[in-house]
Amino acid sequence: MDRPRFEVEHYIGGEFRKGRNRFEVFYPATNEVIGTAPEAGPDEVDAAVQAAHRAFASWSRTPVAERRKILHAFARAIREEAEELARVETWDVGRPIRENNPQVYIARVANNIEFFADFAATHGSEAFLMDNGYVNYVQRMPVGVAALITPWNVPLLLETWKIGPALAFGNTVVLKPAEYTPIGAWKLAQIAHRVGLPPGVFNVVHGFGPNSAGEFLTKHPLVRLISFTGETTTGKTIMAAAAPTLKRLSFELGGKGPNLVFEDVDLDRAVEVSVRAAFFNQGEFCLAGPRLMVQRPVFDAFLERFVAACERLRPGDPMDPETTLGALIAPEHLERVTGYVEEARAQGAQVLLGGDRPQLPAPFDRGNFLNPTVITGVRHTDRICQEEVFGPVVTVLPFDTEEEAIEVANGVTYGLSAVVQTKDVGRAIRVANALEAGTVWVNDFFVRDLRVPFGGMKSSGIGREGAQYSLEFYTEAKTVCLSNR
Ligand code: NAD
Repeated sequence: MDRPRFEVEHYIGGEFRKGRNRFEVFYPATNEVIGTAPEAGPDEVDAAVQAAHRAFASWSRTPVAERRKILHAFARAIREEAEELARVETWDVGRPIRENNPQVYIARVANNIEFFADFAATHGSEAFLMDNGYVNYVQRMPVGVAALITPWNVPLLLETWKIGPALAFGNTVVLKPAEYTPIGAWKLAQIAHRVGLPPGVFNVVHGFGPNSAGEFLTKHPLVRLISFTGETTTGKTIMAAAAPTLKRLSFELGGKGPNLVFEDVDLDRAVEVSVRAAFFNQGEFCLAGPRLMVQRPVFDAFLERFVAACERLRPGDPMDPETTLGALIAPEHLERVTGYVEEARAQGAQVLLGGDRPQLPAPFDRGNFLNPTVITGVRHTDRICQEEVFGPVVTVLPFDTEEEAIEVANGVTYGLSAVVQTKDVGRAIRVANALEAGTVWVNDFFVRDLRVPFGGMKSSGIGREGAQYSLEFYTEAKTVCLSNR
């Protein structure tokens, strides 16, 4: 297969810059170098923030209808380049191309922008008439320069999930994509440039976290808010770095989702949902359900069908539409994931499936692949059930009662998402209400209306984004009180 070569650039003040220090970009499925990207130093980060700061003066005052028009053009261009963007996302991440379906995945990427362009144009001010005839109204003002710091696992989706509302509500943006996946963000900058986003409104700087582009952004005095998605430990570091300049923060952090399968389910449907919840994006997914818990009467029957379904997953060339399991992001991450499996095995767990690397033809034999891995015989307090493994690894535990299921499900530091599978509506409501999770799916996975709040409880995040919740984060509310005298 032809390997493309991507020479990624920063996008600062409407100009593309090669930068000075360049680092290599690898294709996770083969570990071949597919390009290079620049690492921004403090001066380049400063240039991007200054450009965003200058552009804020006019963008924040641009009529919302005009901003909506430009953002719709941006989204339309994303849709027009859907096939290319789907491939780029696979080059970046190693995810199977079938999971980047232009009509589903890239459509959602574009919709992240369209949705907020429309929402900002139709929501905002409130007014209250007091008994004495005074009028109070609430003006929503954009905040300023928004630093958007994103992870590598679903880059285009998460980048636009932040770019859309930030720009729609009148802020200007400096995006810092993850160092593993710089290509998609560069493509977004090219599209933004082509459709005529005014210079400085949207900037992209590349680089790493500590002592690099990420850290420089979090400490820059002109950055007024940070929307960060990534690891919980990184969130803590960013919070400390942002404290001296008192920035507004929104954190979407790690997850360790439970997937509770009750005895009354349709087993085939429950298996299908559980396979998706565990192995979408090869399990490198904050919202995944890697803690599978099955009520004892159906435990054996479920497990048999689940393992059989996992055996049918096909790791391999992510560009092959038949491939259903992609490569992990990097060799060091593969090592980390297999470390969890080996530790569990050493402690007596049964690895029913996987735990090893698939036999693949060259050049995919050099990629970061791991077979779908199904583990039983672990305690829910074990590290593999408590920490984010972030790979195609699922643990399966039996439970007896609803109360026990809830207690175990809530017994982790994370609280991002959960799946509940049952036909009993009363039970679905009881369990969903008791779970400590920002999102609970009943009888499905990863379907969401953009109007609802999205975010995590406990160590999974701070704040919520989505529709009104994004409006609150990305704007300042000002009260104006008018006398009638
Ligand atoms: P990460 O925290 O290592 O990196 C995320 C981003 O932060 C990258 O761009 C990185 O360069 C930057 N960064 C790292 N250290 C920094 C620092 N000190 N200052 C500023 N920026 C810094 O996370 P990752 O490994 O890229 O992504 C995987 C993690 O993201 C998992 O924990 C996953 O659960 C989480 N995630 C959460 C959600 C959610 O919606 N809650 C969604 C996707 C991923």
